Amino acid sequence: MSATTHTDRLSLSCLDDLPRGLFIAGKWSAADDHRQLVSLRPSTAETLTTVAHAGVTDVARSVAAAGAAGRPGSRWHRMSPAARSRMLHRIGDLILENADRLALLDCLDNGKPLRVARAGDVPAAAAVFHYMAGWPGRLNGENASIYTGSPERHLALTVPEPVGVVAAIIPWNFPLYMAAAKVAPALAAGCTVVLKPAEQTPLSALALAQLAQEAGLPPGVLNVLTGDAATGAALAAHPGVDKVTFTGSTEVGRSIVRGAAVDFRRVTLELGGKSPNIVFGDADLRQAIDGAAHAIFYNQGETCVAGSRLYVQRQVFDEVVAGIRERAAAIRIGDGLDRDTEMGPLISAEHRTRVLSYLDSARADGARVTGGQVPDSPGFFCTPAVVTDADPQAPVVREEVFGPVLVAQPFDTVQEAVALANDSPYGLAAGVFTRDLGLAHQVGRRLRAGTVWINSWHVLDPALPFGGMRGSGWGREMGKAGVDAFLETKTLINDLGNRSWGPTPASK
Ligand code: NAD
Repeated sequence: MSATTHTDRLSLSCLDDLPRGLFIAGKWSAADDHRQLVSLRPSTAETLTTVAHAGVTDVARSVAAAGAAGRPGSRWHRMSPAARSRMLHRIGDLILENADRLALLDCLDNGKPLRVARAGDVPAAAAVFHYMAGWPGRLNGENASIYTGSPERHLALTVPEPVGVVAAIIPWNFPLYMAAAKVAPALAAGCTVVLKPAEQTPLSALALAQLAQEAGLPPGVLNVLTGDAATGAALAAHPGVDKVTFTGSTEVGRSIVRGAAVDFRRVTLELGGKSPNIVFGDADLRQAIDGAAHAIFYNQGETCVAGSRLYVQRQVFDEVVAGIRERAAAIRIGDGLDRDTEMGPLISAEHRTRVLSYLDSARADGARVTGGQVPDSPGFFCTPAVVTDADPQAPVVREEVFGPVLVAQPFDTVQEAVALANDSPYGLAAGVFTRDLGLAHQVGRRLRAGTVWINSWHVLDPALPFGGMRGSGWGREMGKAGVDAFLETKTLINDLGNRSWGPTPASK
């Protein structure tokens, strides 16, 4: 956990060819007012680099560029589905060809272990592009039957059309993957995009813009604006934006909805979670312990789907919790560049303070907390924590911590487990560990969550719709639903006339 080493210097060379400007209309430029944004390296708390900080006029430039690039008659608008598909495949291929560099960028910028970024985030981002490349040629309308009219008189068609200019606003926890998850389906649908990465992790979005340029994406189809919350707010509120697709906190999601109500622009929201994980007494306990630890501690617990509430059937509660505590204590924490590191730092000093405040308040209320220590290091590290005996109404049980903090509680009956799991304003993900698959499916159907994992966690795929119920958001990403979210359906009706079948008209 020391300051800049030889390995660091080699790794930092991944920044050498990275543009730090705004990517608008296929060109790199400074912000109009030349402001800069600092990106820190969470493992050392040092400045990693600075990038352009987009302001209101830059937002206007990028939205205009995206509008022009998607206009009828534009190169993008006229591009065949086959060519669009090839473009998406090409970007996916380029992500894989540049996997080491992209993984390094996310490792340095976010703090996550390099091996996690290399084996997880980067191939997942490529897979989204490759999967979405299959859609352009399959976005067909219908030849619709008119219900109330004469079948011979009317020819009616439905046509899927791109929704238009998309503002894509993403958080810092999976920087490259989140960018891919927004951009690829929007492009598959024929939309144009202004992408705003999180202020903490702007770098891999800039690299993605470079790759899109290399793939030959027409100028203005993808624009990248680095900036902060104010940049995001200006983008989400711009009247030239037809749709906002947002991943981030529930509070910001709410403000985006309020803004979108002005002109009813389309909105997809992937928000927070407090996902319950139910372990039944008959489960394979080794698998359940590993699964529960993975559910909460993966990516430093900074995942929206983190399995942060654990409900364990009483007769195995002590054994499961002891197993998870043992796992937590063994997790190797350190700089993501170190190949032994299993858990990196949290994203920022402020975020760590917030995470620790949940533990302090739980302890003060009499809960038992293990872990949650701050190692002696300049980085924003925090050891994984397990909380038991907490008041069910305590903030650590009710609110999203977004860090490596698990709250465990025993239950006695299936009904009680389901009721506890559903007692949350969120509804993003849930899990069930049991050997009884019938029980797992029946409980799974009762859980109010967009995704339910059985004897597993964190299995996501571009073919599978992902999203939340209730406070976890609106709409779905991925799968066909994820492409449909970027389409409007137009109905075209042609009145063929009320023909009476008399003699065939004579030629004139
Ligand atoms: P955040 O909402 O503060 O920021 C997310 C993004 O929104 C950033 O790019 C930020 O600059 C921008 N932003 C901030 N204020 C804005 C505003 N008023 N208008 C428009 N844009 C604005 O979230 P965060 O703290 O960076 O990320 C953590 C949150 O994201 C957690 O709550 C987590 O659950 C959620 N998250 C959800 C998912 C999901 O798929 N459901 C995935 C990852 C993270």
